[in-house]
Amino acid sequence: MVGVMTIPPADSHVHSEWSWDWGSHPESPGSMVRMCERAVKIGLPALVFTEHLDFEDAWRVDDGDIGQHAQKFVDDTGRVRLPPFDADGYLGAIDRCRHAYKELRILTGVEFGQPHMWDAQAADLLSSGAIDRINGSLHLLPFRAGDRTEPTTLYHHRAPDDVMWAYLEEVPRMVAGSDSFQVFTHIDYAVRSWPVATAGPFDPRRFEGGFRAAMRVLADSERVLEMNTRRLRPWIPQWWAQERGRAVSFGSDAHGPDDLAASFPEAVAMVEAFGFRAGSRPDDFWTR
Ligand SMILES: [Zn+2]
Ligand SMILES: [Zn+2]
Repeated sequence: MVGVMTIPPADSHVHSEWSWDWGSHPESPGSMVRMCERAVKIGLPALVFTEHLDFEDAWRVDDGDIGQHAQKFVDDTGRVRLPPFDADGYLGAIDRCRHAYKELRILTGVEFGQPHMWDAQAADLLSSGAIDRINGSLHLLPFRAGDRTEPTTLYHHRAPDDVMWAYLEEVPRMVAGSDSFQVFTHIDYAVRSWPVATAGPFDPRRFEGGFRAAMRVLADSERVLEMNTRRLRPWIPQWWAQERGRAVSFGSDAHGPDDLAASFPEAVAMVEAFGFRAGSRPDDFWTR
C-alpha cells in the first residue's frame, strides 16, 4: 500500500537564542535565522519559536545538575536566577525572519514553565495578542522550604517512584491552576532523567494509572498533548487516545538546527496509528 500523502506538521516546539538555555548546543549566534534556513532546506512548512518563559525565583540545583552553559545563572546559595524573557527583542527577530523567509510559516510562542504558579506575571504578554502558541511545561516540582526543583535534582533526594508520582500528581494541579496554556508539553519529562543505573529501565506500565489520570484531566480541559519527538514513546499517543484526548502537536524541542523536526516521520506514523489526522494547515493540531 502506498502511504497517504499529508502535509508535514509544523515543528511546534523550537528554541532559539531568545531562550535562556540557548548554548546547550555548540552553534550559538544568529540561531533563529539558522533554524529558518534549515526549515526551508528540509521542506518543513512551518515552525513555532517557543522560547522559555520562566519566572521561577526559588529553583534549587545540586552541583552538576545544570549544564555548563547555564552555570552562570546559579547563585552561591544553589538557586538559579534566570534572566527575564526579552519579548521585544524576540518579536523583532521574528519579524525579520518572516520577511526573509516568506515561504515559511513562522509562528510566535512561549514554553511557559509552571503556568499554575505564574499566570499573573505572564498575563500582560500572553494577552497582548503577540504570542500565537502557549506551550505549558512542568519542569519543576516542590522541593523543601518553598524551593522548587527539577526531577533531575529530586532523584538525588527521593526514591525514583516517589519522584515520578510527584510529577504525575502535579499535572492536575497545573491544569486546575492555569487557563493560559493550550498545549501540555513533554509529559515524559521526569522519565528523561530516570535513574536507570540504580532503578533499571523505566517501565511506563508501573505508572500507567498516574499517566492516564493526568491525561484524563488534560483531555477534560480540552488541552492538546505534545508529542515531544526527542524520544518516541508509543504508549503516550495510545493512552492519550484511550483517555479521550482529541488533539496533538508535534515538537522536536530543538535547541539547534540539527534537531529540527527530528523523528517527525516516525511520530506522524505513530499518531496516525491511533487515529489522529492532519488539519488543513501545517500548524493546525492533529485531531481525532
Ligand atoms: Zn521543556
Ligand atoms: Zn523546550
